[in-house]
Amino acid sequence: MGIPSSVTPIFKRLEGKVAVITGGASGIGEAATRLFTKHGAKVVVADIQDDLGQALCKELGSNDTISFTHCDVTNENDMENAIDRAVSRYGKLDIMFSNAGITGNMKDLSILATDYNNFKNVFDVNVYGAFLGAKIAAKAMIPTKKGSILFTSSVASVIGGIGSPITYASSKHAVVGLTNHLAVELGKYGIRVNCISPYTVATPLVREILGKMDKEKAEEIIMETANLKGGILEPEDIAEAAVYLGSDESKYVSGVNLVIDGGYSKTNPFASIVMQNYI
Ligand code: NAD
Repeated sequence: MGIPSSVTPIFKRLEGKVAVITGGASGIGEAATRLFTKHGAKVVVADIQDDLGQALCKELGSNDTISFTHCDVTNENDMENAIDRAVSRYGKLDIMFSNAGITGNMKDLSILATDYNNFKNVFDVNVYGAFLGAKIAAKAMIPTKKGSILFTSSVASVIGGIGSPITYASSKHAVVGLTNHLAVELGKYGIRVNCISPYTVATPLVREILGKMDKEKAEEIIMETANLKGGILEPEDIAEAAVYLGSDESKYVSGVNLVIDGGYSKTNPFASIVMQNYI
């Protein structure tokens, strides 16, 4: 369900804003790219999937409103180019959405099986990449005394053992740490810093983990495990949160980890299943 993608909003909530979205070519980032442009933002899509990113930009507008740049978030030059592009082409940077992320090796869920290379790879993209995006964005935002920095963390930042590897869970906790620290450090410049923590969404990342499963089947499995029934979490739902946190509607919201999990992290399914046998 989610946002009817064919509908143009009457009120453009990001009119006049300029955004950089990392991982903007696929999944949650793609949904954000679509919704941001629909709400009037000028967007730089920064991703390593050049063909996908370029095709998306071509579909959504012209170079005057949206453009793609090849950007590996772990590479400082790439990140600087992405932010320079926003500033030189569109005049400024209002929203930095550091969304790119990877899960790492899903076969090695346990600490005993986790090796240095896997750990480093996940932390490089999920944490160092988010840090770099925030650092270079802050440089562009501080002189203007405003801005919104957003990260995509995960429900794995608030609970453990939900089927994600230790590397992923700890990297997403670190993203919340970045959020908390930067909300304090950058507050004096009028810069807000928040993160969004989704429950499982059937994006290419998740479908790949599930053995290249088709979207419908993946959604079925996700629905079965979800706490909130009667709907499914979609990339557009996360994009909606990003629009809110990027817009002036959230002008005093900073330091928040917005968990979008339908209450999943509040439950203990084991307790209720076991207790039911005795009640
Ligand atoms: P996705 O794979 O569909 O999209 C991720 C995008 O990031 C891809 O376009 C990929 O090319 C890009 N990317 C990967 N490494 C990169 C790098 N080094 N530099 C630049 N771009 C890079 O996955 P998604 O599910 O949309 O994931 C987006 C974010 O949401 C990630 O941070 C992920 O950890 C987080 N997340 C996803 C879920 C979920 O269930 N899908 C749940 C919680 C959090």
